[in-house]
Amino acid sequence: MKVHLTTLGCPKNQVDSELMLGLLSEAGFPLVERAEDAECLIVNTCAFIDRAREESVQTILELARLKEQGRCRALIVTGCLTQRYGAEVMREMPEIDGILGTSNLPAIVELVRQAANRHDWATAAPPGYLYDARTPRLLTAKVPYAYVKIAEGCDMGCTFCAIPQFRGRHRSRALADVVSEVEALAARGVQEAILVSQDTLAYGRDLAGNGDIADLLLALGETRMPWIRPMYLHPAHVNDRLVERWARARVVPYLDMPIQHGDDAILRSMRRAVTARRMKDIVAQFRASMPGVTVRTTVLVGFPGETEAAFERLLEFVDEVRFDRLGVFTYSPEEGTPSPGFADQVGADVAAERAARVQEAQDAIAWERAAKLVGSVADVLVDGPSEDGAFDWEGRTAGQAPEIDGVVYLRGRRDFTPGRFARVRIAEVEGYELVGERA
Ligand code: SF4
Repeated sequence: MKVHLTTLGCPKNQVDSELMLGLLSEAGFPLVERAEDAECLIVNTCAFIDRAREESVQTILELARLKEQGRCRALIVTGCLTQRYGAEVMREMPEIDGILGTSNLPAIVELVRQAANRHDWATAAPPGYLYDARTPRLLTAKVPYAYVKIAEGCDMGCTFCAIPQFRGRHRSRALADVVSEVEALAARGVQEAILVSQDTLAYGRDLAGNGDIADLLLALGETRMPWIRPMYLHPAHVNDRLVERWARARVVPYLDMPIQHGDDAILRSMRRAVTARRMKDIVAQFRASMPGVTVRTTVLVGFPGETEAAFERLLEFVDEVRFDRLGVFTYSPEEGTPSPGFADQVGADVAAERAARVQEAQDAIAWERAAKLVGSVADVLVDGPSEDGAFDWEGRTAGQAPEIDGVVYLRGRRDFTPGRFARVRIAEVEGYELVGERA
């Protein structure tokens, strides 16, 4: 049975996909690149917000057509959509033959084996699965970086977030196991390990005697992995000791700290357990202890109760802190979370307009900061051939995380080798994209 897998959603989902592909390939199933060539199609879905759910449903329906017209005999849906809605997904879409949530990923092998015309689902297990370094994993993307899931789930209980409902409570992988996975990835030629989870700074808290996130980073510093990039730092967990140990760890000078908002009443209502003042101090502290650190954040606009004055405070926050990068989301009321019941819901048009305003403010700040990079020399990890036809290669500086932060377009076909580092002089800046040549 030839299998094709489509991944939607975030890097955490991508890791799950690579694990399922690793398990299937170990079990002897041939994997094919084109959906049209497959006898079994798997869609690993996202259910983070309504837009993501729509994309998931759309993809399932499109692939279902291959069951009528093509050679496909089984359509399996996995991931957050099925973990969240379970058998309801099967009732709504009879085209689906089997489903699996985010738990019990190894069950995918049995499910594929028996999937054709099965019309039931493999597992209703509550979220709880965590892979380990021995789980086979197939790195599909031809890039020199890999995501490493260090923990799963979240206990923070932000009032807008549905993730804990289907990714479960926070649980961490053992420190030695993460170290061994990162070491093995380095041995396979991976140059950058991107540490992901829902709540990275809570790493290790649930495992007695394991050590915390700083212990993990210090231990990973002893591996041969050149770049280590932790993502998603919840500001409520930051303290002086953490900043001091972080600065000593061998991580890239990059901070990804979602602030979500800059108004204290909204932050309280979101249950973020941190104030705007405190978050400003944290960024200042990291900047003082890691010179040249790139700071990225995400914000959420249109949360219930966000008055124009509260939104202005977010703009002031962004203007004062001057992030290098910022991603903006508009609020989406999620089933099973407290915030849809809050007073003063904000209209979608107002939220969209605020998102555009905050993005515009940020663009001006970011471009001004990026313009200062012209003439500087930096280490660039060459990711591979450029998507822009005008250049041969593209890569990233330590200040650019894959897929979200822009790239460095590289001039000079013979000057670079994909998957290797190079010293690059930044020659031009175009918005969030940089253009460089061998220094
Ligand atoms: S910390 Fe993140 S994953 Fe956890 S509840 Fe809040 S938004 Fe959701």
